[in-house]
Amino acid sequence: MARYTDSVCKLCRREGQKLFLKGQRCYTDKCAITRRAYAPGQHGQGRKKTSEYGLQLRAKQMTRRYYGVLESQFRGYYELATHKEGKTGDELLAILESRLDNVVYRLGFATSRPEARQLVVHGHFTVNGKRVDIPSYLTKVGEVVSIQDKSRSSEKFKAVLEATSAHPVAKWLDLNRDTLEGKIIALPTRDEIDLAVDETLIVELYSK
Ligand code: SF4
Repeated sequence: MARYTDSVCKLCRREGQKLFLKGQRCYTDKCAITRRAYAPGQHGQGRKKTSEYGLQLRAKQMTRRYYGVLESQFRGYYELATHKEGKTGDELLAILESRLDNVVYRLGFATSRPEARQLVVHGHFTVNGKRVDIPSYLTKVGEVVSIQDKSRSSEKFKAVLEATSAHPVAKWLDLNRDTLEGKIIALPTRDEIDLAVDETLIVELYSK
């Protein structure tokens, strides 16, 4: 599958906000958004004129990049959201949050979503006791995500858990730090998702 391979910090600078794609570096003064808070490229500091379509496109691109999802898959999540009862934008974000790689990140089992994705692919996690190595797996309320027994004592996870120990765990997840298990107690409401985006712009874009 095609993946973005250029500097991920450029994506944050393009969107004008932190997307937290580089783990601990994102929380330090070395963060590119802190040091160069303008868009990359020759015209990055130039005048910004943004059409309605431009705003909608940026909202969609930022959200897609925040969760590390390719266009076709993102469109699929939108279609899924339109069949839910709630507001389509809210449902779309809730679906994205329920992805296994995001849940792993939100539980502090990885320092970033890209790292969570890689750890999931490498088979370090179980859902309700069964190994799941698909980052896009959509978790459900009541399911329990856990680090595989044999992975828990690895130096990698010791470093990750230490690095994320001060990070707040999302309210819709219940983390047991002793057993290293996280339960999905509800899907997040919009105000529990810390992404600064107007999701109605994404709905407008796809509704055309
Ligand atoms: Fe984005 Fe993290 Fe790079 Fe900062 S350090 S620009 S938040 S990826």
